[in-house]
Amino acid sequence: MSTDHWINGKRAGSSRRFADLSPIDGSHLADVAAGGAAEVDAAVAAARAAFPAWAELGPQGRLPILQRFAKGIEARGKELAAVETADNGSLLLGNSHRVVPRAALNISYFAEFAATKLQGQTIDSPEVVNHVRFDPAGVAALITPWNAPMMLTTWKIGPALAAGNTVVAKPPEWAPLTCSLLGDIAHEAGVPAGVLNVVQGIGEEAGAALVAHRDVDRISFTGSTDTARLIGEAAARSITPLAAELGGKSPFIVCADADLDAAAQTIAGQYMNAGQVCLAGTRVVAHRDIAEELLTKVRAACAHMVVGDPRDAKTRVGPLITAEHFARVQGFVERAKDAGARVLFGGARDKAGALYFEPTLFDGVKPDAEISQREVFGPVLTWQTFGSDDEAVAFANNTRYGLAGVLFSRSEKRAMAIAERVVAGTLWVNCFFIRDLAAPFGGSRDSGLGREGGHWSFDFYCDVKNISVRKGSFA
Ligand code: NAD
Repeated sequence: MSTDHWINGKRAGSSRRFADLSPIDGSHLADVAAGGAAEVDAAVAAARAAFPAWAELGPQGRLPILQRFAKGIEARGKELAAVETADNGSLLLGNSHRVVPRAALNISYFAEFAATKLQGQTIDSPEVVNHVRFDPAGVAALITPWNAPMMLTTWKIGPALAAGNTVVAKPPEWAPLTCSLLGDIAHEAGVPAGVLNVVQGIGEEAGAALVAHRDVDRISFTGSTDTARLIGEAAARSITPLAAELGGKSPFIVCADADLDAAAQTIAGQYMNAGQVCLAGTRVVAHRDIAEELLTKVRAACAHMVVGDPRDAKTRVGPLITAEHFARVQGFVERAKDAGARVLFGGARDKAGALYFEPTLFDGVKPDAEISQREVFGPVLTWQTFGSDDEAVAFANNTRYGLAGVLFSRSEKRAMAIAERVVAGTLWVNCFFIRDLAAPFGGSRDSGLGREGGHWSFDFYCDVKNISVRKGSFA
């Protein structure tokens, strides 16, 4: 496959390239084009030139093209799943059965939404009629992280293109490959040249040039809170609307009346993709009356979890993405131990290989300790207990983050009362990770800015315009 940029319907190289390694075994996958300001300029110019005709097509005109794009993703699903797994170490089964279908749906759902529901509205006033329209904004810059590039990039491309914008996507340098394939698939589906552009490169170079570009009308970013601060500064200089989906340190609350078997299985599921999941409920807090019984069940659920090659169907926990990220995760674990946290299980490199870390659970962590407050982005959870619902809520809200939360209880009244008070973009009750594209998604506080999903995506990717017409003023 090509690992050049995809600009104006053609492949384009760069004089510099960066090495892309597989986290599975460190093997060299590709030397990928490393773009900078020049490639970003070319891609934004192509997107700007393609914008009027793409916008002019309207949602109905774009619908069949985007439906073919979605079908193209499905048709090449096996290849996309295998490439994503090789590139970022996420589980092949999950990529085949969950991520590829979702990537296709990200394109078709928003195309159909725009064609059937994005109709604006008319507001009647005494003197005027207000015709409210959802106009495409222009060129959208989309920046995504390595832990789920195919899922997250299509989640942005879908509504951006459906709304009539053109796109410049900057894939993550640690897992750039599936985004490169998206350029080919869009082209084969008939997406016109310049409508979808992909500039590969390092965040501080290609990403920084893209968000600072004066001809970009929207920036949608998913990644870390620290990077979002830099992008926010660039967006502020040009007053460009920014949507940001960021990190998390989500609580996992288990009440005394919970289904403990289901809760234990779901806690074990937080180690999925080696915990490199923004939404993971990494701070477990269990009611004191059931804490011991729950811990026994969690130990049992985790005891036989296979750590290893993500291409193997039996594997539940794959590798960390790079040696650099491994060292970061290990640093959090060692500092937690030094600060007096007790390892209930795990805590070290796994025998599966250099980048594999054991599923780890810490007890005895202080609420203000680093391991309780900072996102590790690895297979590391903490264990604490509570006595009252108020304590559970206070625990849940005791970080700067507010991305998600998980809550297990058999009492609807208790569950809703707690859920309403937890600061989070999404709070799952007796379930985890179920995301309907019609529902809003995003984070509060340090976890993000704005919401995407359903009509919220179009609120962001469109310029909402009011044409206010004086009644009786036309001949
Ligand atoms: P990151 O912030 O380091 O990088 C994300 C993207 O930003 C990459 O494409 C990178 O190249 C680019 N980038 C880096 N510096 C940039 C700059 N100065 N200007 C413009 N772009 C720049 O994040 P990461 O390590 O790739 O991803 C992990 C983080 O993403 C975690 O914090 C995780 O929680 C978060 N995440 C959030 C969600 C969500 O939906 N909320 C989903 C997945 C991951």
